[in-house]
Amino acid sequence: MKTEYIKTDADNIDLQAIKKAGRIIRSGGLVAFPTETVYGLGGDALNAGSSQKIYEAKGRPSDNPLIVHIAQFDSIYKIASYIPPAAEKLAKMYWPGPLTIILKKTRIVPDETTGNLPTVAVRFPSHPVAQLLIKEAGGYIAAPSANISGRPSPTTGEHVAVDMDGRIDMIIDSGPCRIGLESTIVDFTCDVPMMLRPGYVSQQMLEDVIGTVEKDPAVFGEASEGVKPKAPGMKYRHYAPRGVLTIVSGKKADVINLINDRTAKNSSKVRTAVLCRSENTSCYPQADLVIDMGDDKNEEKIASRLYDSLRKCDEENIDEIYSEEFDTPGLGLAIMNRLIKAAGHNLIRV
Ligand code: AMP
Ligand code: MG
Repeated sequence: MKTEYIKTDADNIDLQAIKKAGRIIRSGGLVAFPTETVYGLGGDALNAGSSQKIYEAKGRPSDNPLIVHIAQFDSIYKIASYIPPAAEKLAKMYWPGPLTIILKKTRIVPDETTGNLPTVAVRFPSHPVAQLLIKEAGGYIAAPSANISGRPSPTTGEHVAVDMDGRIDMIIDSGPCRIGLESTIVDFTCDVPMMLRPGYVSQQMLEDVIGTVEKDPAVFGEASEGVKPKAPGMKYRHYAPRGVLTIVSGKKADVINLINDRTAKNSSKVRTAVLCRSENTSCYPQADLVIDMGDDKNEEKIASRLYDSLRKCDEENIDEIYSEEFDTPGLGLAIMNRLIKAAGHNLIRV
């Protein structure tokens, strides 16, 4: 399949291109598009065949449900059979934006879109290109991240092209995503709302609006072995670069020593990279690649650089990647959730 690659400025949208993309989706095709979180791989959410195509293009297990993207609040009534008042309150506060809510679905949503679950994940993104495309496509776009399953999520059009060229009909490139981490997911089908995936909207931001929000113990590390996460996707290895990623946690001097030890030992045959804070970039002279992730005061920058940095390591044929821990106060939970999964839980405490 030939993939059409289109560039459009988010402030000066190429209307004709988006109309064409909308037609592709309405006729059952797939288009990758920018959102404020990461690039999405979009198909018609109400068309079972489109959802099947999404799973094929990504190589995604079909029990891992897709998020349905809408572009106006009222669209929710067609796909959700019940919207608890707390869900509505939260959505009205953080939509459009990086928040996904799980609700009971109506029959119009195909089982293929929800991985056979009786519930549907809904998000209203704030990116103007995403909003226009959703409207042009008929109002409901199912979209997981536009990467091959298991790889780091794409935060630029180029990332999408690396993974999806030849597999989908069109890629719309509007430059880098502002946030760079996937949305926060909150399940409203349980007694107490439950956060299934951390994101830009923190637990505090949720609780400020609706009171107590629990965290899925299987995702946030408090569960005993064998307990399954409620968001099926959270059980899969994810976001992973090709090289072996190790996170090193501890006092600054100890972390630097251990990473230097590892990068020195291997430097002749094995290519190494380090992901570190700006203040530490000169501390790792033995590594082949040192990536400046920003500093703790600007955690949004760290978040937005994460996937790009992991992909950069792939481009540079890095065999071993060492990362400092980025447990910052607000976004740290979301950043570390992705980093730990990318590392396959390979974390050394010094
Ligand atoms: P992605 O589309 O790659 O951002 O991943 C979407 C995430 O949402 C995955 O972890 C899914 O398992 C989760 N998800 C989507 N729909 C549901 C649902 N109905 N119930 C629980 N989790 C869901
Ligand atoms: Mg994903």
